[in-house]
Amino acid sequence: MKLKTKIQLFSSLFILLIVVLANASIYFLFYKITTDNEVDQLVGQTNAIVETIKENPDLPKSELLHAFLPANGIIRIVDTEGKERTPTITKNPDYRNIALEFSHKESQEIISNDAGEKIAVISKPVIWEDGEIVTLQVGNYLLSLEETMRTLLYVLVFASLMIIIPTVIAGNLLSKFILAPIKKLMVTMKENTKQGEWKTIDVNDRSKDEIYEMETTYNEMISQLKDNFEKQELFVSDASHELKTPIAIIKSYAQLLERRGKSHPEVFNEAVEAIDSESDRMQQLVEQMLLLAKNKEAAPYEAIELVTLVEKIIQTFTKAYDRKMMFNYEVSSVQVMGNVDQIEQVIYILLDNAIKYSEGDIHVMLFVQAHLVQIKVMDKGQGMPEEDEQLIFNRFYRVDKSRARASGGTGLGLSIAKTITELHEGTLSVKSIQGEGSTFTMELPLK
Ligand code: ADP
Repeated sequence: MKLKTKIQLFSSLFILLIVVLANASIYFLFYKITTDNEVDQLVGQTNAIVETIKENPDLPKSELLHAFLPANGIIRIVDTEGKERTPTITKNPDYRNIALEFSHKESQEIISNDAGEKIAVISKPVIWEDGEIVTLQVGNYLLSLEETMRTLLYVLVFASLMIIIPTVIAGNLLSKFILAPIKKLMVTMKENTKQGEWKTIDVNDRSKDEIYEMETTYNEMISQLKDNFEKQELFVSDASHELKTPIAIIKSYAQLLERRGKSHPEVFNEAVEAIDSESDRMQQLVEQMLLLAKNKEAAPYEAIELVTLVEKIIQTFTKAYDRKMMFNYEVSSVQVMGNVDQIEQVIYILLDNAIKYSEGDIHVMLFVQAHLVQIKVMDKGQGMPEEDEQLIFNRFYRVDKSRARASGGTGLGLSIAKTITELHEGTLSVKSIQGEGSTFTMELPLK
């Protein structure tokens, strides 16, 4: 069942139920109050008859009963055997149809005759002039009640229709109004799925309600998906492009070996060396790409003491490379929360770059500022143009392709470092002056 039909059906049935319940209550309450009134009046009249008979035993009974005859009624006396005694007073002989019944107890009831007419009947035992106990039966046909109830029924049905019809129309309009933007969204989504497009919804001229929020959220989602998809595509094309070069080199050396390797042994050494170094490059590239994917997952966090960690890494670097590295820090101990392997990796990448892209001394500094700790890696190397400062954090971006390649770079290091830092709720930035050097700053929140 369509949502529109569901909304309409539910709202209409709900209103119908309420209207029927309310009107039925009104109808039966009115009936009860009216009949109770009639019965009360008739009881009063019956009591008055009994009183008058008691007070005026000598008055002729037929005259006395005449005086109390209800408009559409009958007064009669029923003896112990259930027989009618004179006098019976009525304007209409048909009213005699009421069943004759003797009763020791006073009773009051509303009965219906075969024609469905309602009659209020009061029966009261009285001592008659001959000393016998008889039942004084006073009945009144509620002729106007039927008419009134019928009129009330018409009024209530009319009032119900006056409520239900506009409600059904309003339900229809409301469901159309609510569902129109959802339909639009559905069409756009279908188009996007079928045609592989990234269409968004036009939200101009829309009031800022929940549907507006849904549409803007959808638009944001689509633009995020588009962004990610494009980045992914770019990554795949960059990665395959980067892998193509070493593969081409390996292949050409293999062909060279095949052609001339046997006759020219000097070619053999050169080819093996080139194949070996290009395979190394490919291996490094693949490992770094895997690392990039892996670092997106949250690793278990622990407290990390940064001064000791940086000191340890600098020691490793100074042993491996013949380079001077200075470490300055203001505080003797500072802790952050994170994954120690990942944080170590960022510092490795920054130091490795400083070694690759500079020749002089390298300064590492550690500052504590408010709730942050800053680790700065400063070199006096070649630096880079200002426009490259943001771009170097993109995957595979290298300022000077041939030089970076010569230094064994893949263009993935800083991208990995940035991903890790952001995973730790920190930032990674660079300030560089071409020809003078670069300073990379990693900021992390304190523990
Ligand atoms: P790579 O493997 O090429 O070093 P990175 O992502 O680590 O990849 O660095 C991207 C580029 O940023 C490098 O190719 C280089 O051009 C530039 N770069 C990085 N660090 C420095 C630095 N300390 N000085 C100058 N340029 C740098």
